[in-house]
Amino acid sequence: MEMLSKKIVDGCEFIVFDLEWNQPIPGKTYDFDCATLTGEIIEIGACRYVYENGDLICKGTFSADIAPAVYTRLHYHVRKVTRKKNSDLKKGQPFAQAYESFREFCGTDAILVGWGNSDPAMLKMNLKFFGMDNKLGMYFLDLQPIFSFFAGQKGKQRSVEAAVDYYHIEKKDIFHSATADAQYTGEVFEEIFRHNKPSEVISAISSSSVDPDVKNEFSLVGSEARDTEGALALINGFLSVCPLCGKELEAEIGKFRIRKSQYALFRCSEHGELFSRARIKKNKSGLFYASAVLRFATQTDYYLVASKKEEFDKYGSTGAPAVQAEDNKEEIDSL
Ligand SMILES: [Zn+2]
Repeated sequence: MEMLSKKIVDGCEFIVFDLEWNQPIPGKTYDFDCATLTGEIIEIGACRYVYENGDLICKGTFSADIAPAVYTRLHYHVRKVTRKKNSDLKKGQPFAQAYESFREFCGTDAILVGWGNSDPAMLKMNLKFFGMDNKLGMYFLDLQPIFSFFAGQKGKQRSVEAAVDYYHIEKKDIFHSATADAQYTGEVFEEIFRHNKPSEVISAISSSSVDPDVKNEFSLVGSEARDTEGALALINGFLSVCPLCGKELEAEIGKFRIRKSQYALFRCSEHGELFSRARIKKNKSGLFYASAVLRFATQTDYYLVASKKEEFDKYGSTGAPAVQAEDNKEEIDSL
């Protein structure tokens, strides 16, 4: 994977953004395949930041409400979370118009920043669905693992609200509005710089930014097997070649297993390092299968696989005793 080639120096711009989207109503039939539009964007919120002297300075905010064209009634879950009403949706502007203003706000040389990695994919899906150019042409940084890394909670997924609490950021608006969430995410970004060495933050950012126009994550649900070893053996083929070029992968950190998860770090001589994690699951018939992801490794991924390897070397496949109870609970929930 091509890493961020642009050096982060004074004057660099970041667009911290967040989206809210509506979902199809379950059971309702639409005259298109809902899998091609799993969510229709109804709000874009963003803040522009400029990096100067180890600090981030907010230079403006952006907010647009969008009137959905196909999912015009709020899904009950979206209504609950965003506290929007059906009548609010009509007050928005057309998506194309809102997106054009958003791109103008972004400028031509910024790095997009979001919380979690779903927003760029959702934006691209909407652009494609409505027949617009879906190339974003900007690098994207997921701030969530960067926060976990600097907050000493590596590998944990935290909400924006948890990060806001962690840094004692004042709460002045409701969460789950794109505009408010973009502002909170921006403030968390500011705090990360404030509480850590800027050079270390920059290094983490540079090695974690991805090109959202290039597919960087691949997944596979393996076939069923009688036991967990068998389930893992059935995904070996998937984990042996580079998903971009088909070349055989070399193991940098060979496959190892802690409880129901298998980790590894591979290398393609042409495309760089790939992180892999496979989870063993059990279906209703009592058979096992593995659900695997293979993705171009970011700094957070290196960290995760290295710390899991350390745990494995120390405790073996049963993992560290202290976290076992918590992990087992999660695994049972996901079965
Ligand atoms: Zn390759």
